[in-house]
Amino acid sequence: MIVSRFAPAPTGLLHLGHVLNALHVWGITRAVGGRVLLRIEDHDAQRSRAEYERAILDDLEWLGFIPDEPSIDAFRHGPCAGRQRDRQEIYHAALRRLRDAGLIYACDCTRRELRDAMAAGGGDAEGELRYSGRCADRHLEWTAGRGLRVRLAPSVERFDDLRHGVLAQCPAEQCGDMLVKDRDGNWTYQFAVAVDDFEQGVTLVIRGDDLLPSTGRQIQLARLLGRSVPPRYLHHGLIMKSATQKLSKADRDTSVRDMREAGETPDVVFGRALHAAGMLTTMEPISGLEASHIIVRQYGDACALLGRQS
Ligand SMILES: [Zn+2]
Repeated sequence: MIVSRFAPAPTGLLHLGHVLNALHVWGITRAVGGRVLLRIEDHDAQRSRAEYERAILDDLEWLGFIPDEPSIDAFRHGPCAGRQRDRQEIYHAALRRLRDAGLIYACDCTRRELRDAMAAGGGDAEGELRYSGRCADRHLEWTAGRGLRVRLAPSVERFDDLRHGVLAQCPAEQCGDMLVKDRDGNWTYQFAVAVDDFEQGVTLVIRGDDLLPSTGRQIQLARLLGRSVPPRYLHHGLIMKSATQKLSKADRDTSVRDMREAGETPDVVFGRALHAAGMLTTMEPISGLEASHIIVRQYGDACALLGRQS
């Protein structure tokens, strides 16, 4: 059984980019007879807001994106296994596993120090901060205000993306030893997602190309946590605001909430999402089912492959 997930962060409202992703997740997963999990990625306590979570749940329900697990109502009624904030014990257990394997160390570098060190070294083309390993052998105590990092092997992670084909990434070169917990005490995105995908039995990750650089990291982290077979990945195209700028939560005119309040129907929202992604030649209202069919046709080979595996 294929298990995928839709995993928004409650740091803003759902926008057309989320709708495009949800159409891919539900469309492809349903086409291969799989299950869709809903995960609220509120690992960042400072940026996450309960009102955004409520709005996301309402908008998903309005659009007809109904997860198999947990139910939308389960999120509304208190602690829930699909919400990262309520999964603390699971992350602590995963951290203990890495610690017992000698893979965790504390780090007191500030972001500013990391930036300065990178500027001195020339930096990389993508402007990503690569951690130098400065604290790797300092044996700092695990006290509040310090981050925790995991030691990465200099190995190359190869994976067969269902759209891009075989790709290779070396996380140790891309980003260096990764934070699993930041200086504010938050579990990091990479850690929480690798733990969740493993622990929840996610076998298919469908997400936008913006997260492609994370994939090797999450595969390596999952292996360090004891996962023998990583999920399959499908990274789809993004809705771009311009040739170089992707759509973000700050673009309020594209939020589902604004479209709802302007009196638009879900079919109009689906039409706008597919049109903006270049998957519909004209902007026309389209049902969720039709939208799913367009996506499934585009990923016919991937669906056939997944169908054989499930
Ligand atoms: Zn450090």
